[in-house]
Amino acid sequence: MPVQLDNTDVVILKSLMEDGRKSFRAISRETKVSTPTVKARYERLVNMGLIKSVKPEIDLSKVDKGSKDALQPLESLKKQKKHFHVYIEGLKVKLKCEFCRGPIHGKPKVLKFANFERFFCCTQCRASYKDKHSGRIEMLKEQYRKR
Ligand SMILES: [Zn+2]
Repeated sequence: MPVQLDNTDVVILKSLMEDGRKSFRAISRETKVSTPTVKARYERLVNMGLIKSVKPEIDLSKVDKGSKDALQPLESLKKQKKHFHVYIEGLKVKLKCEFCRGPIHGKPKVLKFANFERFFCCTQCRASYKDKHSGRIEMLKEQYRKR
């Protein structure tokens, strides 16, 4: 599936690039995007592989070396994801043609319907996709109009 980053993704990424250890709440304040949205977008970006690594910042002085359960606080820190480092490869996501599944070189041919966007390598693929899925596209358009 081709993925297009929107402005919300970009502001969140930019905020994280400045300081990858910010909390979701801090990012929310800074970007004016709600905390649940920041969290959801962040998770999506991780799923996409754009944010490559989530590392809790661990205060080792707080880990009891003698304790058999020494690793447990580390695990709970990881779950909290309160602090993380972010590595970003680039804001461009490689797109694949929605019809032939080939890579898209240069500017993609875009098909927009309802609130969807689909990307194609050439106008031929775009036209073929439109033919093949015309029923579904019309249905989605209809649903979108009714909202
Ligand atoms: Zn194609």
